[in-house]
Amino acid sequence: MSLKRIAAVVLTGALALTGAACGGDSDNSGGTGKTFEAGTTMDRLSKAQKIIIGTKFDQPLFGLKGLDGKPAGFDVEIGKIIASELGIPADKIEWTETKSAVREEYIEQGKADIVVATYTINDTRKQRIAFAGPYYVAGQDIMVRKDDASITGPDSFKDGTKKVCSVTGSTPAKKIEEYVKDKTTQIVLFGGYAQCVEALKTSQVDAVTTDNVILLGFVDQDPNALKILGAPFTQEPYGIGVKKDDTKFRAFINDTLEKIYADGRYAKAWSDTVGDVAPAPTGPAVNRY
Ligand code: GLU
Repeated sequence: MSLKRIAAVVLTGALALTGAACGGDSDNSGGTGKTFEAGTTMDRLSKAQKIIIGTKFDQPLFGLKGLDGKPAGFDVEIGKIIASELGIPADKIEWTETKSAVREEYIEQGKADIVVATYTINDTRKQRIAFAGPYYVAGQDIMVRKDDASITGPDSFKDGTKKVCSVTGSTPAKKIEEYVKDKTTQIVLFGGYAQCVEALKTSQVDAVTTDNVILLGFVDQDPNALKILGAPFTQEPYGIGVKKDDTKFRAFINDTLEKIYADGRYAKAWSDTVGDVAPAPTGPAVNRY
């Protein structure tokens, strides 16, 4: 064996030893380089090297499943960052579709470890689950056909002649009830917003109502057919849903949000997804209730 070769073998051996020390039992990380308090959700997920993340599959810009079968969007990027802070790479994430009406139940039943899905923080939902965040504040708005000038705001539904579409189990579906004359004939509900968009394009409804950034995604896909009024009339602070009593996991996600506001990952997630369509937000203060 040449001297050079011997040196290489010795060096490799030394590196392997160092590797074992870093990834082995001594740091309790299971090889991820991350260590968490035993018994916490962070510890469990990190060691399992698997996380199930609930998101939307039919909402451009925030969570849209592509032809490759993977979802893309701002919520998806936030989910990936949380996973990476747990030491879980993106290819180990299991994505599951969480439509508006099933989000609480998915969290309660453990069908999703976290839900990042244009999910408004509110007290009703907090009775069943807990929220980290907010990480963005949207506002409810209205989308109509591009050539329609007859709807100018939520008050346009008060005369009882116009139909508006929204999604079952969403906050906008509830809010719009305050503005219609007859909710049974005027409000049309589907399981997802893409179905509302189809109903609008085929004139089965006159408007779609939900958060402005969701509507912007649909207008962006078909700007010749659709427009948004651009006058939000609520505040929708987006949170990350976790199990109700999991205070440590919630605190970890809040820490992660504060970290990515500061280190540029939040801004990059936005510019890679929503950036061309809406101005970059500054991360809102998290609420550690
Ligand atoms: N942010 C609202 C909500 O959580 C509307 C969007 C949605 O349905 O995901 O209900």
